[in-house]
Amino acid sequence: NISGRTNVVTVTPWLAPIVWEGTFNPLIVDSIYKPMHLSIATTVFAVGKYVRFLRDFLETAEKHFMVDFKVHYYIFTDRREDVPAVVLAPGRNVTIIPVPGSNRWQEISSRRMEMIQTAIENQIGKEADYIFCLDVDTKFHGRWGAETLSRLVATIHPGYYEQTHEHYPYERRPASRAYIPAGEGDYYYGGATIAGYVRDVHKLTKYCREQLEADAANSIEAAWQEESHLNRYLLYNKPTKILSPEYLWQDFKAKNNEVQIIRFSQVNKNYAEVRPNVKKRK
Ligand code: UDP
Ligand code: MN
Repeated sequence: NISGRTNVVTVTPWLAPIVWEGTFNPLIVDSIYKPMHLSIATTVFAVGKYVRFLRDFLETAEKHFMVDFKVHYYIFTDRREDVPAVVLAPGRNVTIIPVPGSNRWQEISSRRMEMIQTAIENQIGKEADYIFCLDVDTKFHGRWGAETLSRLVATIHPGYYEQTHEHYPYERRPASRAYIPAGEGDYYYGGATIAGYVRDVHKLTKYCREQLEADAANSIEAAWQEESHLNRYLLYNKPTKILSPEYLWQDFKAKNNEVQIIRFSQVNKNYAEVRPNVKKRK
């Protein structure tokens, strides 16, 4: 493929592809994966006021996310009665998993690891081939298809893809289990999208859950909670495929030359209004 991309890096030093528009042919990808009749689990947490994001998330996912695949959404929420009824395409369905609320957003975000681990053990492990774990305060705007499937998939955080590892907000305190020493690091991965084979994501969530609990026992919380532990895991367990920031944008960021299409983006939210405790953001 000599007409691919020249202004972005499209392969890692360990030969994993970095998926950008122009690096794959969607028709070829679809003709390979669609006949496999894969089951795709998708977890999304809508705890407290975040239920308000569910309708747009689901409606835009039905337009753009793994279209023509069997998708099973697992919605983790403490507000079952506020989950909107969204019309799903044939072969796609929703299961609601009740979870407790919390008065700290850091805990809601972090406890996803434990709850995904448990849900894989109890249910998803028997039902799905691949799993996507996605933030709910998001919308799909363009194709997100089978080009994203692989054993262990992470997404480059849109805030850091133009920077080198000295600038990444890794956890730098050796006392935390998420510690990454200076001079090390590949990419800064966003915690809003994790994917892969169910067994590989299970391993990742179990690891992050154990590290979060070990830190808590030592009264330390990593700089970006589960995202910090995720970044450490992925430094020593390299992803087999990496998604470019096309797959994890932020609405407040201006589009630029490298990003030819925004496929999935975090909406602008009023932190003080939707989060149960005080605002903090990257
Ligand atoms: N979340 C939630 N309720 C909350 C806080 C977070 O359901 O009160 C879930 C939700 O799925 C959200 C994810 O945790 O998408 C990550 O939190 P957030 O989006 O606030 O983090 P950010 O993307 O701003 O770093
Ligand atoms: Mn988010």
